[in-house]
Amino acid sequence: MTTTEQKLTVDQDARTAEHASMFIDGAFVPAGSGGTFETVDPNTGKTIAQVPRADGTDVDKAVAAAKRVAVDWQFTDALGRAALLRALAEKVTENADELARLEALDSGHYLAKAQELVGAIPIWLDYWASLADKVGGRQIEVPGNKLSFTLLEPLGVTAHIIPWNYPLLILVRSCAPALALGNTCVVKPAEDTSLSALKFAELVKEAGFPDGVFNVVTGYGGEAGAALASHPDVAGITFTGSTATGKEVAKLAADHVAQVNLELGGKSPTVVFPDAGLEDAVEAAVQGFCSHAGQVCVAGTRLFVHQDIKDEFLTALTERLNQATIGDGFADGVEMGPLISKTQYDKVREYIEVGKSEGTLYYGGGRPEGTDEGGFFVEPTVFTDVANSARIAQEEIFGPVASVITWSSEDELVEAVNDSPYGLFAVLLGSDIKRLLSTARRLQVGGVMINDWFGELPMTPHGGHKQSGTGREEGLEAVHGYTQVKHVSINLDDSLR
Ligand code: NAD
Repeated sequence: MTTTEQKLTVDQDARTAEHASMFIDGAFVPAGSGGTFETVDPNTGKTIAQVPRADGTDVDKAVAAAKRVAVDWQFTDALGRAALLRALAEKVTENADELARLEALDSGHYLAKAQELVGAIPIWLDYWASLADKVGGRQIEVPGNKLSFTLLEPLGVTAHIIPWNYPLLILVRSCAPALALGNTCVVKPAEDTSLSALKFAELVKEAGFPDGVFNVVTGYGGEAGAALASHPDVAGITFTGSTATGKEVAKLAADHVAQVNLELGGKSPTVVFPDAGLEDAVEAAVQGFCSHAGQVCVAGTRLFVHQDIKDEFLTALTERLNQATIGDGFADGVEMGPLISKTQYDKVREYIEVGKSEGTLYYGGGRPEGTDEGGFFVEPTVFTDVANSARIAQEEIFGPVASVITWSSEDELVEAVNDSPYGLFAVLLGSDIKRLLSTARRLQVGGVMINDWFGELPMTPHGGHKQSGTGREEGLEAVHGYTQVKHVSINLDDSLR
């Protein structure tokens, strides 16, 4: 295998990067075919770097490496695995500035947000390092003179297919438990955002992980991604991405009966009760649909506002949106950057056109003033007079587009919120805690935040009901996604007769 010793380097002034290599079996390598594809800066539309384009042969090599060392890694004692995760956390901290700049450049997160996201990664690594020696099986009381217990064992080779919206965080939130619990990993980043995963691979090597335990293949979903999901030696797949692709991945996994965790799309509600504090409710609503330009799985793009406060809420929302600073993620004070790609930009613009026939365009809808013509910027956009059955209220747009839907009774609200193929998340804003809690219990979603906006933490479970997914990432619940149970029974009698 040809290897390259050169590290991925970034020229911040030119906004370019060089030497993007995949990481297979402890070596930095180009694609076997020599093929590459470009990754672009969403702020300008200009090319940042050429990235190796893996095909099935490269995926085979990565899976073979992960399989070769799977048993050794499983039987490396848990404290040894934990020590390596902690060493990796230190490497991430030492290289946080470079990682954040790379993430901001490739994904369109504004720099301060990218710094916050990268700054949190050591916490995830440390959380799972701490749990490596603490999760295990249980003793079971059975009839007769027998000792019966379970062992919690790793799956073996796990595949991690990552979306482009939170590239490094989502990689770490699934690879950290997988590695801590004794699995080996093959990661396939999204084609729009491969760079932070490749830099992270350099840190994995520097931290001292054995060759083959962690691998990264870059490439297109239908090529490298499908080859990985259908590989017979992959025992577990964590897929984070759209519901449509998740269904494809689940079908590919079914052919070799791999265990699947699916973290999929959403169309989440932000619900404003009549007794909500107006300023906080507006802030939560704006964070809900404008964070990362609406490219968040839990984005609160259905804004259920109680009819008694609709007018004052909309006035305050307008004032807040007028203050939003949108633009190049490397400029000071920016709080909303671009969409990830031209494809995503065209898709969001199409939905805005659909919205004009389904409701009233109340705010935005255009390009923010002063943004780079080549970048993929869209104004925060709000539609009013939208029926819950409208396409813009039912389909995941993945842009800063909200539909305001008014409600008057809890029964009507709960029915409308639950009338969705998705069930990822909900935000409830109000003062009457009994009312908020009883509503929370009736919603078909995997997570509810009350008087808060979404904040991802390693210790709290995240995942979806209905077509938003299966399994859970984060928290103790994630253990099930990266382990399997072995039952052991010992007969303690001297004789079987
Ligand atoms: P996507 O489904 O287009 O792609 C996700 C990943 O799958 C990419 O790496 C892609 O290359 C790969 N892929 C594409 N086709 C494939 C195939 N046939 N076989 C295997 N892999 C394939 O999603 P995206 O556009 O990158 O991300 C946005 C979506 O992700 C949104 O729907 C969002 O809600 C969802 N998301 C969910 C969560 C969550 O935790 N629930 C978190 C982040 C994003």
